[in-house]
Amino acid sequence: MTQTNHIIEQTEKFGAHNYHPLPIVISQAEGVWVQDPEGNRYMDMLSAYSALNQGHRHPRIIQALKDQADKVTLTSRAFHNDQLGAFYEKLAALTGKSMILPMNTGAEAVETAVKAVRRWAYQVKKVPANQAEIIVCEGNFHGRTITVTSFSSSEEYKEGFGPFTPGFRIIPYGDIDALKAAITPNTAGFLVEPIQGEAGIIIPRDGFLKEAKALCEENHILFVADEIQTGFGRTGRMFATDWEEIEADVYIMGKALGGGVFPISAVAANEEVLGVFNPGSHGSTFGGNPLGCAVAIAALDVLNDEQLVQRSLELGEYFITKLREIDNPAITDIRGRGLFIGVELSSAARPYCEKLKELGLLCKETHETTIRFAPPLVISREELDWAIERIKQVLSVS
Ligand code: PLP
Repeated sequence: MTQTNHIIEQTEKFGAHNYHPLPIVISQAEGVWVQDPEGNRYMDMLSAYSALNQGHRHPRIIQALKDQADKVTLTSRAFHNDQLGAFYEKLAALTGKSMILPMNTGAEAVETAVKAVRRWAYQVKKVPANQAEIIVCEGNFHGRTITVTSFSSSEEYKEGFGPFTPGFRIIPYGDIDALKAAITPNTAGFLVEPIQGEAGIIIPRDGFLKEAKALCEENHILFVADEIQTGFGRTGRMFATDWEEIEADVYIMGKALGGGVFPISAVAANEEVLGVFNPGSHGSTFGGNPLGCAVAIAALDVLNDEQLVQRSLELGEYFITKLREIDNPAITDIRGRGLFIGVELSSAARPYCEKLKELGLLCKETHETTIRFAPPLVISREELDWAIERIKQVLSVS
């Protein structure tokens, strides 16, 4: 039995079956490349759902991890640590917001934003106690906790997990009239992914985000952008909301903030919003730990110094042009921004992903019929050409 087969068997035997991975084991990685125990190399075109924008094991981020590990990794938040302030300052400057609240995973950051929006509703907007409402969109994906699952529109995500948290209204994604109609005097926030990632790289029509932001302003509602998957250059802008030149009232960030090395997430907003938290109202044992902060600082520096946002924009345009040359009637749509691209098929996407894996390219279907291509933003044009050659081979009919 190969090592790969043994590891898969062991994993399937002892692990809960809440994922359905392709039959590959990754035991080493660098940049855009990963390797299995038998030494086969693959290109990673999924990037841990955009958590690896800076590539696998970026040397500067790994160095920051090692340097910090030699000093201090965790302190109780009962004390200050010497990395947290610098991390706050950097992320505040990047988002243009005055306050940051750090957590660990994306779902926790979404929960944090929901708590902030609700408290803001009661303390600032003067919504009657326990009546605050948050509007969300159909097809959303904001994580897996019970509250976040409560406002999912997917039966698959919800089945068997009730009772659910009340206080959310779901509107069709991108429908400004539905947003208008859903607003009540108790509406506190509009929580939206500027591009829906897990739903299959769904881009709202031009102008929707801008109109939604204006509507929120008119009605004293917080516009909350979940940039966990779309942030940090993935879409060819620092944040996907930048495509419509809007500034969210609340940014939720995760994934690439930790450079693919360490889980760190954060919420950014002005004092009017995040100032609602006082000691005792919210927290996390690991949130804001010095190891995570040091890694995040390095991850943001790499993004800036290597101009990864610009690279994503340029290579994304090139990639999508090449994909559109593919002749296959089963391809019904190719859409994307930056290196965040979805290929929609009229048939199942998984067989294509399996064939691509045989040729050394790793990607994964999302929602049955969409192939998501989201390589690390450090990918070179030569590496991208290597990928395009294989994608053409698999996706072309002739
Ligand atoms: N929000 C969005 C837009 C996401 O894409 C994800 C993860 O895919 C999450 C939230 C949840 O993040 P995590 O898996 O770190 O909890």
